[in-house]
Amino acid sequence: MGNKCKNCNTILVGDFCHNCGQKSVTRRITLKSLFRDLVHAFTSSDRGILHTLISLYTKPGEMIRLYLAGHRVRFFPPFTLMLILTGFYGVIYHFAPIEHITAEHLDNISAESDLHLGIWSYVVEWVSNSETFMTLFMLPFSALAFKWVFNGVSRIKYNFAEYLYIAAYICSQRLIIRLLMLSIPFIWNESIYNNVTNIMNVVYVILIAWTTKGLFSIKVFSAAWRSVVMGLLSVFMLVVLLVIIIFIISIQLSIYNAE
Ligand SMILES: [Zn+2]
Repeated sequence: MGNKCKNCNTILVGDFCHNCGQKSVTRRITLKSLFRDLVHAFTSSDRGILHTLISLYTKPGEMIRLYLAGHRVRFFPPFTLMLILTGFYGVIYHFAPIEHITAEHLDNISAESDLHLGIWSYVVEWVSNSETFMTLFMLPFSALAFKWVFNGVSRIKYNFAEYLYIAAYICSQRLIIRLLMLSIPFIWNESIYNNVTNIMNVVYVILIAWTTKGLFSIKVFSAAWRSVVMGLLSVFMLVVLLVIIIFIISIQLSIYNAE
């Protein structure tokens, strides 16, 4: 009588359960095993975060293409990666010596004579202070933009869900740069940080071009102009979304004021 899988009770053959994929041998969880698992999650050559992050900068297009083609075990899954990086970003941003939005800002806005202008500046300020939230919020829109701009450039056609995965990997790629940039206000000051942040938008477009060149196996020029369109489209969609949000807030406020 062979051993049974502790997860699903299937008779075990080999190192992994052939029914649910769990390891055949599971020991009790200890601090040592917890530490080993954490180190493994970062450094393992398959599914390791570090290995995946390096691939995102050495051969991003090829990596995403392989992942979508079914090489799932080789890379850390994009949404988990994105959430971990967003979490890190959120915590570091909170402690960064950058001007964060406060209740004072809100008071200034209600004092503003033109209500719409006040709401606009508030929402814009809030959005620029909530990069982590906006990153997640914008993901489906950027997947949509990717699909519009890049679908049909190569023989491989992806569906919307696959474009979401592509967008999540590219977003993670960008989050790494943002995380590195967050060291600037700690070392120098906020104005240098703001200037570098603006310049970085160009770098993001270059990164998209480089990634999509490899992903779709297209020419540099084709990848470049499509990435520029992609960048403009993202800005356009963000502005449209902001206008809709502000419109909704304005209506709510005018109803509230009328009462
Ligand atoms: Zn099992």
